[in-house]
Amino acid sequence: MSKVEDIIVTISIDTECDHDVNWVRSKPLTFDSITEGVPNRLQPAFDEVGAVPTYLLTVEVMEDEASVEALKNLKGEYEYGTHLHAAFIEPEKKFYDYAGIDSPDFQCGYAPEIEYQKLENLSKLFEQRFGYKPTSFRAGRYGASADSINSLEKLGYKVDTSVTPHLRWSEPNATVDFRSAPEQPYFPAENKIAEAGPYSPSRILEAPVTVKPRLFRDPRWFRPWFATVDQMKDIFRYQLKKHSDRKVLSINMMFHSMEVIEKASPYPQTPDDVKRFIDDMQRGLQWCGEEGARFAPMSDLYDAFQVN
Ligand SMILES: [Zn+2]
Repeated sequence: MSKVEDIIVTISIDTECDHDVNWVRSKPLTFDSITEGVPNRLQPAFDEVGAVPTYLLTVEVMEDEASVEALKNLKGEYEYGTHLHAAFIEPEKKFYDYAGIDSPDFQCGYAPEIEYQKLENLSKLFEQRFGYKPTSFRAGRYGASADSINSLEKLGYKVDTSVTPHLRWSEPNATVDFRSAPEQPYFPAENKIAEAGPYSPSRILEAPVTVKPRLFRDPRWFRPWFATVDQMKDIFRYQLKKHSDRKVLSINMMFHSMEVIEKASPYPQTPDDVKRFIDDMQRGLQWCGEEGARFAPMSDLYDAFQVN
């Protein structure tokens, strides 16, 4: 018998400058994913199905006047949070011109006090641009550690969504291992990121990206392009069954803003591809709604999971 009373679907979107098909930043640097993708493709698609996206903004987006203007004028229901690619902000900033640059650094590969200052500067930039403090976050390339969690908590964040259960990521400057991380939101144990601890009212909530493990194969993500509509339904049902002892269940879709601009990521390459991406996304989300799920911005999970 399932105890689940409340299924919350969030959509966490890394919101960045356009990239190329090899995941390198565009040259010259363009922001079609912000000025065209967010207001004309993504937000209307979410509005149509009643979904509430959370756009996690990078340094370069918040430094671009036209992007900030487009974001400030965005109509509809959504949340803005932050997303860090650590090489692009002080201290120890490595690049001043981002065009044609890849950024493999994990933020957790920097000394903890340097990483803290990078997060603080990112958060200050957000506050300068939007006039309030961000409360949700994801690390670039999921490169977050226990130190990252402690820093985010100190900076007033409510929710981190850097953890990808069943997966391990490696870059030259660090490795993060989420293979044994919980699949559902949790308050991390002291000085841990991928382990649940006792409830503490001051602790940040970790809301992992929703994936389903598969035998001898990579886990499947709850994510358009990576999963068909039927596969999204299957992942949703898997989470519901596996965690039927909980009152509140989270389904957290992730992708990048660049995925709705053709050739601005390794994924959709033609206008037809983009259409398929958005159609699948809408159909998947709409189905979740018909199954009784509700949509919420990432930061709302913090209150919703106080009870579990
Ligand atoms: Zn990113």
